Amino acid sequence: MIPAGTIRVRVVLSGLVQGVGLRPEIVRLARHFGLLGFVKNNAAGVVVEVQGASPAIAAFRVELLRKSSPPARIDEVTSCLLEPVESSGFEIALSDATPDRGIVPPDIATCENCLNDIQNPANRRRSYPFTTCCRCGPRYTIIEQLPFDRDSTSMAAFEMCPGCLTEYTDATDRRYHAQTISCFECGPTLILETEECEAARGASALDRTLELLEAGGIVAVKGVGGFHLACDGTNDAAVERLRNRKERSDKPFALMAASTAIVRLYASVGPTEARILESRERPIVLLRQCELPDALPLSQHVAPRSRELGFVLPYTPLHQLLMRDRPLVMTSGNTSNEPIVRENNQARQALGGIADALLLHDREIVAPCEDSVVRVVEGASYLIRRSRGYVPLPIHIDPIGSPVLAVGGDVKGSICLAASGQAFLGPHLGDMESPEMLNRLAETVDRFRNLLQIEPEVIACDAHPGYHTTGWAREFARRNGLPLVQVQHHRAHVAALMADGQRGEAMIGVCFDGTGYGDDGAIWGGEFFTATPSTMHREAHLSYVPLPGGDATIERPYRMALAWLHAAGIEWHSALPCLQACPAEERNLLRLQLACGLNCVPTSSVGRLFDAVSAMIGVCSQSTYEGQAAIELEAITEITEGEYEVDILPGSPLILDSRPVIRSVVGDLRNGVPAAVVAGRFHQGLARAVVNVCRLIRDQTGLHCVGLTGGVFQNATLLQMLIDQLRCESFEVLIHRQVPSNDGGLSLGQAVIAGSSNPRHA
Ligand code: ZN
Ligand code: ZN
Ligand code: FE
Repeated sequence: MIPAGTIRVRVVLSGLVQGVGLRPEIVRLARHFGLLGFVKNNAAGVVVEVQGASPAIAAFRVELLRKSSPPARIDEVTSCLLEPVESSGFEIALSDATPDRGIVPPDIATCENCLNDIQNPANRRRSYPFTTCCRCGPRYTIIEQLPFDRDSTSMAAFEMCPGCLTEYTDATDRRYHAQTISCFECGPTLILETEECEAARGASALDRTLELLEAGGIVAVKGVGGFHLACDGTNDAAVERLRNRKERSDKPFALMAASTAIVRLYASVGPTEARILESRERPIVLLRQCELPDALPLSQHVAPRSRELGFVLPYTPLHQLLMRDRPLVMTSGNTSNEPIVRENNQARQALGGIADALLLHDREIVAPCEDSVVRVVEGASYLIRRSRGYVPLPIHIDPIGSPVLAVGGDVKGSICLAASGQAFLGPHLGDMESPEMLNRLAETVDRFRNLLQIEPEVIACDAHPGYHTTGWAREFARRNGLPLVQVQHHRAHVAALMADGQRGEAMIGVCFDGTGYGDDGAIWGGEFFTATPSTMHREAHLSYVPLPGGDATIERPYRMALAWLHAAGIEWHSALPCLQACPAEERNLLRLQLACGLNCVPTSSVGRLFDAVSAMIGVCSQSTYEGQAAIELEAITEITEGEYEVDILPGSPLILDSRPVIRSVVGDLRNGVPAAVVAGRFHQGLARAVVNVCRLIRDQTGLHCVGLTGGVFQNATLLQMLIDQLRCESFEVLIHRQVPSNDGGLSLGQAVIAGSSNPRHA
């Protein structure tokens, strides 16, 4: 018998509603209000049917929206009235199997409650390295497809023990319906291997690992999205050995520390930094170094010649259990230019020669995903790398015409799959030169199509004809009979920024970048556009200088310094550091090459100007990782008196002539001005030039918003200077927040441009 006055309502929730503990919460609420019905996942989100008296249902709805706190995020609620039916109780029903478009949760750092469990001697999960609950644990990296149920994750291989099953079916337990639930009895197991043999298992594998690390060993540790190479960050010999074995001479290593309090011994952590360090996304946060006198000193090999340290707090119970009183180096487990390792066998092959031991486990990583990297700019996070913790949450964009797959560029690769008003960026891939990397790209594309149920109708890539990603995209488009849209690199950066900031109105887009193929075949990278979401016109750029012989010059910044000296008509005086770095033979060849323009490409790249100045003043003449010369130049910069003048030449486009800057740099060097001051004057002069050019463009067009994008804006000194000076001149300033300013955000811009210019719909 159905009592009079009974109604039944169907509520559909969409957004980030699966894998975040929403269904158990709904069961508890419905039972609390004495309602009947069920809740289930379907691929679009969560469906609830509640039956009872109308006031109880109303109260249930209010509480539901109030209780859905992060990590859950409800974007949309729709409801309709149904005919009441005979029901008893309120349960979680089986998920609908039909795949549809839903939101896949990112990996979520271990929650407070789970941390307490692993530290509580009385808890049965004490020291259990795979402890999770409804609200934390791996998600994206273990999910095969939606809906988020254990069977569609790599936890399917582990059958729940009676203890876990009891918790799983008890609505009052916080692991009620936790798809990743497990324990020592039934879950994944740790295995320590040395010299290709199993050395220990379970708890003793952990103990042995701690001993090894303590003794200065290097251990490859399998985490959620891939492997790390770990060693004691305070052990100089260990860190140096890791550098040598990984063949990574200079690029800073990230560190993991047990708590924010320990991070504070080594770096300055403001309230925003602390909040981001402890956030459930748990990225690596770049912090200003400042070692306290009572801290155990860090190895000098952790971050040579850097003013910053990258710290991350433990984001899995395993990491937490590896922590002692000192930071561990935790660098990605891969060899140079290879994708991050994901399988145990790959780890044995690729990392066996680097690590003294491998700490493995038997749960499969379905999707590799590296750590994200952020720094704080203007009181909020500014992404350097968007990956674990953020992927695959969508970025909301203006609806595009047809679904697009964009493949990004050849450095800091990441794909973007976009449809209607959502753009899904893939994890950080790395540099796309090797066939293994292109395989990883293809894998990610397949995974995203399957996971998100989006079939691209347009393919977008860079305009560079020689990019590996361009070749891949062309082939993919041809095989699938789809149109290919090639998007000019810096327009893609500006479009990414506009999408990131949801800017629908025209603005001035300033793109300062390393390398990008221009409309005229030159290497661009110092560009000013007037931009709307659909058009972009180049208004100004840095003056062209010859870039002699491509890649060699990117790896050897002293060559760029000589090219700039040549362009500025300055004698190659052997007292200059950049000449001392250049072997005589190479110097003669270079002189010839520059004189006749042989094998030289003109470039307006600001990244290369930074390289040139860095080498000219003797900061960095050989680059072992992307952006090194510019990063080390910024690291020594001191802002004092004075700035170097850039000439702005009239015309369309306007030209920023930097030759006077080079003359001033050389003049100051001759007068014995310290390199730190030269670097400061260079930064100041460049910022001043940007403001002046923006004023000229504003006078012409009335545009008063300036957007800053491109790899050069990873330079926090230049970025902050520009934000301040532009605001001082009454400009509105737009910077990146959701995607990196570097090529990691490129695919978003490509997708937006290609999606709105689909040749089939044009
Ligand atoms: Zn938890
Ligand atoms: Zn169990
Ligand atoms: Fe770029």
